[in-house]
Amino acid sequence: MTQEVSIDLSLVIPVYNEEENIPYLYPSVKQALDKPGLSYEVIVVDDGSSDGTLAQLEKVHREDPRWVVLSLRRNFGQTAALSAGFDHARGEIIITLDGDLQNDPEDIPKLLELIKDYDVVSGWRAKRQDPFLSRRLPSMIANWMISTVTGVKLHDYGCTLKAYRREVVKNLRLYGEMHRFIPAIASWMGVSVAEVKTSHRPRRFGRSKYGVSRTLRVILDLITVKFLLSFSTKPIQAFGLLGLISGGLGVLISLYLTILKLFYGQSIGGRPLLLMGVLLILLGVQLVVMGLLGEMLVRVYHEAQSKPIYMVKKVLRHGEGSPER
Ligand code: UDP
Ligand code: MG
Repeated sequence: MTQEVSIDLSLVIPVYNEEENIPYLYPSVKQALDKPGLSYEVIVVDDGSSDGTLAQLEKVHREDPRWVVLSLRRNFGQTAALSAGFDHARGEIIITLDGDLQNDPEDIPKLLELIKDYDVVSGWRAKRQDPFLSRRLPSMIANWMISTVTGVKLHDYGCTLKAYRREVVKNLRLYGEMHRFIPAIASWMGVSVAEVKTSHRPRRFGRSKYGVSRTLRVILDLITVKFLLSFSTKPIQAFGLLGLISGGLGVLISLYLTILKLFYGQSIGGRPLLLMGVLLILLGVQLVVMGLLGEMLVRVYHEAQSKPIYMVKKVLRHGEGSPER
């Protein structure tokens, strides 16, 4: 997308109606990162703010050319904003950060130290400064569920402060509200993930953009992530199996009823079991067909866009470098 220039670090910061926070964000990032030997850029993504956020960002941009401002046409949501930032990031390491000052840029050097040995480093707000009932409790449940279901065990999926190697981010495709699941999604690539405790501050200005309602949505997203991780290249294995079980049960039930009718002369027309058997057979056929459709979709998805179904870490071969992919 953008021309490739090598920079050590890209900070990606999504902001939506955070005008009071920007004037504090700039100096705190500067203080944490202005160190000799570290080249960095900051990609702030204005996610369609309706307050003075963009004007504030333009001011910062005039002052410091390392601040790249990306202004989205409307509010697309945090995932889209992050995704836009990733597309424009040129750093070898990419670190995401909230723009509301709840994350502390002073933690960034810690992440930079760890990312030397890992592909993803996730912040963990060990002393989270948010209300317990409405935010911390749902988030504890969500973290436990995501960790258990995806097998990528993290204490704090919701923490935006995370560091990624460039190749991880460049191979990610994010949709919906999936930014919370990046470590789990990236686990498909075989990444190594580390966790580091970071500080967390209460929000001073502006309001949180989320409420309790996101708990339910996390469950739906989790189902999607789990399905994609386990079956995205073999949908028939998921749907087909369910279909066979359902269809098989249906056939057994129907067989039983047929025997009753033919050999024992019983009337089966009024039995609920008959309905059940027919339903299960229909469902089974549907599920298998759905799996087959899925198989065709997988082929279209991967072949139309030449997307491989694997990720190579490096290639050792005489006479050639090792391209990353
Ligand atoms: N944000 C965004 N687009 C949105 C919602 C949020 O860019 O549609 C930004 C927001 O400005 C903040 C970050 O994402 O910088 C995290 O949002 P918030 O602080 O509201 O979430 P919380 O910390 O309460 O989980
Ligand atoms: Mg916040």
